[in-house]
Amino acid sequence: MDLVTRQPRLPEPGETMAGTDFTTGPGGKGLNQAVAARRAGAEVMFLGAVGDDGFGGELREFLAGEGVDVSGLRTGPTATGIAQVSVLDGGENSIVIVAGANAADDLTDGDRAWIARAAAVVVQLERPLALVEEALAAARAAGALTVLTPAPVHPDAARLVALADILVPNEAEALALSGCADVEAAARRLSGAGGTAIVTRGARGVLVARDAEIVAAVPARAVDAVDTTGAGDTFVGVLVAWLIRGEPLERAVDAASVAASIAVTRPGAAAAMPERAEIVAALG
Ligand code: ATP
Repeated sequence: MDLVTRQPRLPEPGETMAGTDFTTGPGGKGLNQAVAARRAGAEVMFLGAVGDDGFGGELREFLAGEGVDVSGLRTGPTATGIAQVSVLDGGENSIVIVAGANAADDLTDGDRAWIARAAAVVVQLERPLALVEEALAAARAAGALTVLTPAPVHPDAARLVALADILVPNEAEALALSGCADVEAAARRLSGAGGTAIVTRGARGVLVARDAEIVAAVPARAVDAVDTTGAGDTFVGVLVAWLIRGEPLERAVDAASVAASIAVTRPGAAAAMPERAEIVAALG
């Protein structure tokens, strides 16, 4: 759950200060990607954990309302994970994430059964690395398409790269994960042998590398962006929704780019994500 305060500046240690606004809303990479894929027409099972608290109930209801299957969403003894976002006057954000129930690190038999039935398994690093690694390995063994967003950046994430058929970092994550100084070299290295890396570059679009070669640079549509929160998650969800329908990678990348460019023109993360029909119409 995102807890967002607006305030003039960050308080000093020991200081209590007045903020000007407070909102809560569903958030997190996994949730955003699940909603993006669902709106783009995929059947989505959300595997994760919430706490036995108000936020947990709200998130479960929100996902179910979007048509995401939440029967694999566990309720644990730990509080629901939160992101406390301080939006400062001037627009800068400071964020504290507490993983809470998301820190639970065991893959259950139930999780394994869902993974074994999936056409694609999409993971990111707001869950523990060992759990993500196990999920990717189980998905690969089951023959599912494996898709990893290596975010937030984790120092040991390099060992996951070989388990992902498609890696979707943003530019900063690609540079951090590859150790390369420029984005093309990073994309080539992260795609490795037999893999695909799609580096998202905000308004500059995406760079696609396959088998250690750059195969495409897709520019972003020129739009008036009002809120880019969740742009990367929209991209991933729509990409996967297109791929599991059997669409070729180039068309899936186009659809994902168009969807993300639509999402940035509207406020909010999940709230801004387009439905399949809107994406198809924009693709022309
Ligand atoms: P976020 O953390 O805000 O979700 P991100 O850093 O993961 O985003 P970005 O690379 O910023 O991901 O954006 C993902 C994709 O969204 C881009 O590749 C592009 O297709 C689209 N996009 C983002 N910003 C813009 C923009 N200003 N104009 C058009 N498209 C955009």
